[in-house]
Amino acid sequence: MRIEEAVPLARHTTLGTGGPARYFARPASTSELEAALRFAAERELDVSVIGLGSNLLVADEGVEALVLRLTGELAGVETRDTLLVSGGGATNAVCLHRARDAGLGGFEFACAIPGTTGGGVRMNAGAYGSDWASVLERALVATAEGSGWLTPAELGLAYRRSSLAAGQVVALAEHRLRERPREEIRATIAELQARRKAAQPTNRRTFGSVFKNPEHELTAGRLLEACGLKGFRRGGAQISPKHANFIENAGGARTSEALWLMDEARRRAREAFGVVLEHEVQLLGPIALASLAPDHPRREET
Ligand SMILES: Cc1cc2nc3c(=O)[nH]c(=O)nc-3n(C[C@H](O)[C@H](O)[C@H](O)COP(=O)(O)OP(=O)(O)OC[C@H]3O[C@@H](n4cnc5c(N)ncnc54)[C@H](O)[C@@H]3O)c2cc1C
Repeated sequence: MRIEEAVPLARHTTLGTGGPARYFARPASTSELEAALRFAAERELDVSVIGLGSNLLVADEGVEALVLRLTGELAGVETRDTLLVSGGGATNAVCLHRARDAGLGGFEFACAIPGTTGGGVRMNAGAYGSDWASVLERALVATAEGSGWLTPAELGLAYRRSSLAAGQVVALAEHRLRERPREEIRATIAELQARRKAAQPTNRRTFGSVFKNPEHELTAGRLLEACGLKGFRRGGAQISPKHANFIENAGGARTSEALWLMDEARRRAREAFGVVLEHEVQLLGPIALASLAPDHPRREET
């Protein structure tokens, strides 16, 4: 396994923004993953994993860490009876395909989530009333100190979150599915994808929902729409004209511009509705939202 230096991360994220990783490696087996984790531990480097980068904002300045992308065995998928076993780097699309071919249902909710098994577990990703917690049996988590299996309870899966910290890498996961006729699975997927296409931007560079839905009668998207933010733009980043809880790269966007829009959206939602929005997207590198700091000054709109 080669450990590369100064690898641009923009092409590893669906938004297409962000600077380089100090170190980058693509471990293809558990032993390579453990070697990469030891490399980082010896140099006291932080470790981050990138799946499909579909829920990730990477700092424009880059990331002073070892960034891993799981490949090979660590991106494999197989079924055993009603278990779907996938490597942390396996894409949801391949998992869904394998489950359907094996006549296993329960994973259809992931048909519109463009990520990997590791990202799904880490984020407890979900849609249409289901999420990873509802199908995950256990996950093999690797750290510099060794690997071990964790149950959903031990992973702390809750609404779009887990207790996994940076440096804890999901290497493998077992999902418990149930027998279901292939035609039914196909029909459910087609229906969910049609619903998604009608409601959210597709064929656009985004990173999924920006904010978690708050405890409020309106969703985050509806709140931001009511704040007049649909189509609001900063540089190359734009709040989707179709769904206000998405930020698109409308051309040459920078991470700092997406962050500016997020700050502005949080400020407006707080002023108009008294709602404090919590971001769902993960931040990688030396970035923080100004609006998370107490009494941050109002910034000039340009
Ligand atoms: C168009 C679009 C639609 C979306 N719709 C949904 C939706 O309906 N529901 C939903 O929940 N999300 C949705 N998302 C967000 C995103 O797809 C999910 O959060 C997804 O699970 C992220 O997976 P990923 O592999 O891309 O992770 P990344 O974005 O690469 O990473 C996300 C986080 O997971 C961590 N991570 C990744 N791999 C591992 C690993 N192997 N071990 C440990 N940590 C890891 C990363 O370090 C980071 O903290 C959408 C995104 C887009 C672009």
